Amino acid sequence: MPDHAADTIAAIASAPGAAGVGVVRVSGPAVPTIAQTLLGRAAQPRHAHFTAFRDAAGELIDRGLLLHFPAPASYTGEHVLELQGHGSAVLLDLLLRRCCELGARLARPGEFTERAFLNGKLDLAQAEAVADLIAAHSQAGARAALQSMEGVFSRKIDVLLQALIALRVHIEAAIDFPEEEIDFLADPAITSQLESVRTELTELLIEAQRGLRLNDGLRVAIIGRPNAGKSSLLNALAGSDRAIVNATAGTTRDVLRESLSLDGIALELADTAGLRDTDDEVEREGVRRAHGELQRADVALLVTDADLANADLAFFTALPANVERIVLINKIDRDNLAPHGEQRDHAHWLWASAKTGEGLDPLRNHLKHLAGAGSGEGAFSARRRHVLALQQVAIHLDQAAAVLTAARAGELAAEELRHAQRVLGEITGSYSSDDLLGAIFSSFCIGK
Ligand code: GDP
Repeated sequence: MPDHAADTIAAIASAPGAAGVGVVRVSGPAVPTIAQTLLGRAAQPRHAHFTAFRDAAGELIDRGLLLHFPAPASYTGEHVLELQGHGSAVLLDLLLRRCCELGARLARPGEFTERAFLNGKLDLAQAEAVADLIAAHSQAGARAALQSMEGVFSRKIDVLLQALIALRVHIEAAIDFPEEEIDFLADPAITSQLESVRTELTELLIEAQRGLRLNDGLRVAIIGRPNAGKSSLLNALAGSDRAIVNATAGTTRDVLRESLSLDGIALELADTAGLRDTDDEVEREGVRRAHGELQRADVALLVTDADLANADLAFFTALPANVERIVLINKIDRDNLAPHGEQRDHAHWLWASAKTGEGLDPLRNHLKHLAGAGSGEGAFSARRRHVLALQQVAIHLDQAAAVLTAARAGELAAEELRHAQRVLGEITGSYSSDDLLGAIFSSFCIGK
């Protein structure tokens, strides 16, 4: 871990090339001196000073605003200086160099937010939300990232953590009185406490999965036999001729991806090769990739037609349980069928035509719904590592419940709960390795 308090960092904090205002941000112990030198007197805390920024020789670099946020009431928790000048990359660079001459060094990507985390201004999930907010590619995603940055997700994790700790205390107390342990552990209060933590976790996991979709977009894998109309559907949804539509079976040999935004919701569509046994070397590779695509998808969209639909449900075999299923009966124009929808066989069925576009709006709406559209005010963003951690916590809780019920093994249950607590703590960073922090903050942009 770098000694984050010892030095002062500086970076251009506004997007290069942006018209209007440009910002150089500085954080660390040298800030009061840098501010004093630039301003010619001590800066007033949180006051916008309009001033001339000059280089060492007294030459004018730019004119703009100087703001000093003394520690600890700042973004990083350290002394922070913001210099707002004209949004010229050249001038901003000169201003940045001037700050470096006066004692700052160039900041690494994410270093401001890393310092905010290390100084307890943000927890890890909030810090990640800062990066997600900047990278958001949909309105719903940006709103959700803002919620996480405000601590909505972190507070839910904390509630769960407290419940878990209470449960551990209960069980560990029972272990400390071995002669009464069996009775203690048989206490229905412990089981019901464990069950209620498990229920809370399930709810949080569902919300976090939705948060992941809001953040990353919904991953939709389009599957089905060759010639079912997968490429045509991708084209119809994407509104372009990105995939090659061909009347000869087996043309879509690779996985084609298309990102699109449906009313501010991001979708990543992957058109996979028809999942059939094949002798063709190239097509076999496509089929292998299609299987891989399904493992990482949120939604499996099976394209079929009225005659083959039931047989094609076999495509869903070996699909992970948490993948949403849609059956699209395509080519209703050819078969003279009416567009409609229904729910059955754990799937959402829709009748449509990729060729005429008939029946595709209900499909778009269903995809938007699955992506978390309209999930309301409280929806927060999450990352894959958060969802994986929550799934891991679920495994530990189930294991704890199993050893308690089957063997009344208090020690083993307590051990599982200890693991659960550690994994949960990794989400907000109360337990985190330097490697994890390095990986998270290095993916930020410079100046944040
Ligand atoms: P893929 O192999 O599953 O990607 O199928 P394609 O999208 O390449 O389509 C195969 C053939 O079916 C092409 O000739 C398409 O024009 C045709 N097709 C696709 N969708 C429809 C549809 O809704 N109605 C009709 N009549 N033909 C379609």
